[in-house]
Amino acid sequence: MVIRRTAGAAGAAILLAFSAGIQAASSTATADLPVIVVRVDNLVGVLPGDLQFAEQRASEVFAQIGVQIRWIDVEESFSQHVLPSFTVVLENAEVTREARSRSVEPLGFARPSVRRAYVLCDRIAALKVTTPRTIPSLLGDVIAHELGHLLLPLPGHSADGIMRPGLETKSWYVNTFTKPQAREVLSRIRALD
Ligand SMILES: [Zn+2]
Repeated sequence: MVIRRTAGAAGAAILLAFSAGIQAASSTATADLPVIVVRVDNLVGVLPGDLQFAEQRASEVFAQIGVQIRWIDVEESFSQHVLPSFTVVLENAEVTREARSRSVEPLGFARPSVRRAYVLCDRIAALKVTTPRTIPSLLGDVIAHELGHLLLPLPGHSADGIMRPGLETKSWYVNTFTKPQAREVLSRIRALD
């Protein structure tokens, strides 16, 4: 009995020391997390609550590979003199000449040379009839996917994860980048500074 209790106490002490070590390590890691500033140009009047939900969803995708996103809008960008790392333009396919000529990526497309991605909200809204998910959550996934294209070499797609060519509309599971993609994204972000 005595021996067992001693062993238990020693075990607990080691466990405490170990978890304290983890806490210290993770708080250091949080401070060092790379941050990208993403400006969202909401040209189609997505409601603030819906946009916030979509941004949170996209943030979760990037948080899983240790990247933080600071979201700003056009006004903040100008008033606070913040130069965004990337810009996401929310617009509709029917007014986008460029989108009409591209059938490969019907929900959005990316222009890495100008660090800008376009998300076609009318096409995402049209998925409403076929998905059990909400449109803002799908919008978040498309934003994360197109941001992925701005941070990965072409073609940037993978069989699994957020960079799958087709949008996952059935499951709420938060898909993120594959391990090789995560390494690429992180090294690209570190090179941005
Ligand atoms: Zn894609």
